[in-house]
Amino acid sequence: MTAAQAGLRNRIGDAQPAPEPGHAAIPPQSGPGPAQSADSAPRQAATIRILIVEDEAELTRALRINLRARQYDVLTARTGREALALAASHPPDAIILDLGLPDIDGTKVIVQLRRWCRAPIIVLSGRTSPGDKIGALDVGADDYVTKPFAMAELLARLRAALRRDESEVGRDQPRQAKVGRWLVDLTAHQVRRASAGGEETLRLTPTEWGILELLLNRPGQLVGSAQILTSVWGPGFQQRTNYLRFHMARLRRKLEDNPARPRHLLTEPGMGYRYQP
Ligand code: CA
Repeated sequence: MTAAQAGLRNRIGDAQPAPEPGHAAIPPQSGPGPAQSADSAPRQAATIRILIVEDEAELTRALRINLRARQYDVLTARTGREALALAASHPPDAIILDLGLPDIDGTKVIVQLRRWCRAPIIVLSGRTSPGDKIGALDVGADDYVTKPFAMAELLARLRAALRRDESEVGRDQPRQAKVGRWLVDLTAHQVRRASAGGEETLRLTPTEWGILELLLNRPGQLVGSAQILTSVWGPGFQQRTNYLRFHMARLRRKLEDNPARPRHLLTEPGMGYRYQP
């Protein structure tokens, strides 16, 4: 792409407002706290965030009370779409997922999550057949608890999944990436660089984080536009490439030395985007 084309793309993108997916998708019952605080403040390293995906309100409530009592940060989603949008805008450390959801089957939610999300997924389901269990584990779930269940057992499985995940982080997953002079810390959700005055930090929106995580987790690989749109905005947004152009232009303005001639956040015309380290 020439600089003129890039500039044109930026202007086209900027003219079109693109919604931030996380906010619209957070249901009122998810509580006032965690989603907003995660957006406005740097995340505390000690806080472990759990996403509950469950359409039974009573069960969600019981899980939330039990998890919060153990100092977990809790987000809840009632549908598969909400789960995908929330996981992208507020990346969880672990996910507890029901299979029978009102919109998308939980197994499909796992498939979509696993394209970019490595957080352990514990399925919590009334389906007890070996086929259901094998199906969920095969597409990327880490554990399977059948309903009815004992809360103590679920919490123990969750701790075990988080421990396994911790021991694996850093082995196969770079949690920091360089974009030009910026260091992007995907764990702490911080972007910083050395400057004359010491250290300079940069603020990204939840949408920008969602896109950036997808790209940075696959250095050098093409990530399709439809995949990014589905992961960040949710199913049904595959055609909204204007949203993506808008936010990619903003990311480049923030992170690239010369946004008109990006060297790290590259467009593959008609296909998608690539992070070039
Ligand atoms: Ca259900």
